[in-house]
Amino acid sequence: MMNHAQIGLIGLAVMGENLVMNMESKGFTVAVYNRSPERTEQFVNGRAKGKRIIGCQSVQELADALERPRKIMLMIRAGQAVDDMIEQLTPCLDPGDVIIDGGNSYFKDTMRRAEELEQKGFLYLGTGVSGGEDGALNGPCLMPGGCAQAWELVEPIFTAISAKVDGNVPCCAWIGGNGAGHFVKMIHNGIEYGDMQLICEAYHLMRDGLGMSSAEMHEIFKQWNTTELDSYLMEITRDIMGFQEQNGEVVVEKILDVAGQKGTGKWTCKAALDEGIPLTLISEAVSARCIAAMKTERIEASAAYGKKCRTIREEKGSFVEKIRKALYASKIISYAQGYSLMRAAADDYGWELDYGNIALIWRGGCIIRSVFLEKIKDAYERNPQLLNLILDPYFKEEISFSIDAWRNVVVAAVESGIPLPAMSAALSWFDSYTCESLPANLLQAQRDYFGAHTYERIDRPRGEIFHTNWTGHSGSTSSANYTV
Ligand code: NDP
Repeated sequence: MMNHAQIGLIGLAVMGENLVMNMESKGFTVAVYNRSPERTEQFVNGRAKGKRIIGCQSVQELADALERPRKIMLMIRAGQAVDDMIEQLTPCLDPGDVIIDGGNSYFKDTMRRAEELEQKGFLYLGTGVSGGEDGALNGPCLMPGGCAQAWELVEPIFTAISAKVDGNVPCCAWIGGNGAGHFVKMIHNGIEYGDMQLICEAYHLMRDGLGMSSAEMHEIFKQWNTTELDSYLMEITRDIMGFQEQNGEVVVEKILDVAGQKGTGKWTCKAALDEGIPLTLISEAVSARCIAAMKTERIEASAAYGKKCRTIREEKGSFVEKIRKALYASKIISYAQGYSLMRAAADDYGWELDYGNIALIWRGGCIIRSVFLEKIKDAYERNPQLLNLILDPYFKEEISFSIDAWRNVVVAAVESGIPLPAMSAALSWFDSYTCESLPANLLQAQRDYFGAHTYERIDRPRGEIFHTNWTGHSGSTSSANYTV
């Protein structure tokens, strides 16, 4: 077989197939392989027929079909499958060949795999891919991280296939060292969970608090999509609200309220706990999916308490505008938290992340694409060392403008019994972050009381520690300082 394919791709499910079609449409010859050969057959004799796409029946055949150094992208199920495939693949490769994992792999797995492969002389790129089926075909957002030498080799292909914004700016950039690409993709997915939950809470308020119909909400989401909330998720929500079955019934009203998830939101929350960063909005969004999955229990609990949501007694038009402001302010908090987490992880893992550029590449191709990301890019351009997004002058003004409406919405929801886990968590975070004096003095006293964990004093320099013999019989020995 002639070794003239510029790139190989393994895994011909929805993402892989569409990425291959995208690469081919940009002039690249692609060799493809899938574990189940019938899928390869179907593809090469179907969509790929007559195109510069070479179907391979084994990984050896795929390796033989590629230009040197080889570039092979895996688009397969994350987890053990990736380790198994790497094991199968490496005996067919030469040192200097590049393996790209484009699946949603856990960033620590990526770090481990990169180290193992680089010891054997291979180059490895953990690459976040966002945009779903449509993005894969027409231009995804690509977040490669790892070996810079590998990035140079794949850059022309990735740049060509990625989404573009502002004319021709590619939504693809080398994110940073080993693990950075999949970490940033994980944050993207966490933010996606948050954005979706916020829209769902706005919907819940309008549906059950204001008694609005799907048709009315279709108009509202359409209008919101012309404001600061202009985004892909707002766009699809608008369309969903207006989507009817042939009999005229609105599909969304027929869908069972049991949420699914694949785990990247959970990973984001775990990473936040590991880094000691409050990621309250995304954590609530993940929990909201968990509680939504407990349908049977919720039916029982609802009956046990005779739960009915009370109508929100506010003028509909002005309250809808308050919901919009609450959604916007909460969204700012979600991104502020997500960016704080990226910052902490970058310090921890030694990645030099370009926060403005991350916002820029998220503007196209990916699920969280929005006009709002431009403002984040501007904020980090104004101050690359920005401690927290809400300290940027633009976002400070935006939050100040929305704060009264945001509080009003949370209070109204509490009174009517409509859960607002993400919007209220965001507000609590905001109130904590902007509170000079929190009650942690009492917390430290409690810790010192039962565990001699010591405390600092407001009337003494930071770093000086004290212990009080609270009971008169506990002695003066304090506990050692360490983090568990
Ligand atoms: P799936 O996640 O459904 O994975 C199916 C593919 O993985 C098939 O090609 C399958 O081969 C292959 N596979 C599964 N187990 C193994 C194994 N042990 N060895 C070799 N191949 C295996 O496909 P998607 O296209 O949805 O996603 C691919 C990757 O991209 C995943 O990591 C996913 O998380 C990620 N991703 C998905 C997005 C989406 O919107 N779907 C968006 C962004 C990223 P076979 O046909 O033989 O079963």
